Amino acid sequence: ATPTSIMAGSGRAAEFGILFKAGEHLETTHRIDTVILDKTGTVTNGTPVLTNVIVGNGMEEEEFLSLIGAAEKQSEHPLAEAIVQGVQARKIALSDVREFEAIPGYGVKAVVKQNMLLVGTRKLMKRNNVDIASAEAVMEELEAQGKTAMIASIEGEYAGIIAVADTIKETSLDAIARLKAMDIEVIMITGDNQRTANAIGNQVGIDQVIAEVLPEGKAEEVKKLQNSGKKVAMVGDGINDAPALALADIGMAIGTGTDIAMEAADITLIRGDLNSIADAILMSRKTMRNIK
Ligand code: ADP
Ligand code: MG
Repeated sequence: ATPTSIMAGSGRAAEFGILFKAGEHLETTHRIDTVILDKTGTVTNGTPVLTNVIVGNGMEEEEFLSLIGAAEKQSEHPLAEAIVQGVQARKIALSDVREFEAIPGYGVKAVVKQNMLLVGTRKLMKRNNVDIASAEAVMEELEAQGKTAMIASIEGEYAGIIAVADTIKETSLDAIARLKAMDIEVIMITGDNQRTANAIGNQVGIDQVIAEVLPEGKAEEVKKLQNSGKKVAMVGDGINDAPALALADIGMAIGTGTDIAMEAADITLIRGDLNSIADAILMSRKTMRNIK
């Protein structure tokens, strides 16, 4: 590729909010045959809202939310933010937190008002021997609606369920259809529950969904696809996505996401719109055609 055509291509892309870090990335992008999309903040808007509170231990809802909200106030996770906002919107004061621990990929652990609290996934509960059999039916119902449902326990006993819902970006469905029409394989990846992820995948036309991936697992999935001969673009916004963005043949960071994701990626998509993925690939193909 000549430096002039690369420069012209990069300049044109920049006008569309697609920033290539280096000329070589504009060349590599035309080979992409597989696109992995992070779910939260990439396919969805990434600003979940508290939708359901189910108290399972006879406690007053206000007391339950005061404890959960206090624990989540210490977490930086977007799910935690949604919960805290929801609790505060109900004008409930948060209790005092004595100890706190974030458990990436699982949830949080905290001591609030002398109570040992856990909030997070089924796996978090199983690891701590909390019996959650009575939560399962409601969990499944919420997850089938595409909501992220989290279980809470107090002093080792099941205490309730809290669910949040994220909204899908208006442009995601069309953007994904465009990629598929270009014969590109589209996969969605998430740390979220499989049932929740499938429900979201369904709404945007993605049938390949890799869910319940632990934070370090996204890069492993990229590696697996590369080992099977695929040229992989990873698209994400979070700190969790950074290793996968770095490892992929092309990493694309969403411009509204974290700085760490942008540093790890080869391309920044200034607009959150996933149409930029197809645009980037088409521009790269065009640049390479002009060269040959
Ligand atoms: P995602 O890719 O959806 O951001 P994570 O790996 O960060 O996934 O988290 C996976 C799951 O762990 C979440 O879907 C949630 O069930 C649980 N979890 C993570 N952080 C928290 C938190 N602060 N409070 C409660 N649950 C959490
Ligand atoms: Mg994300």
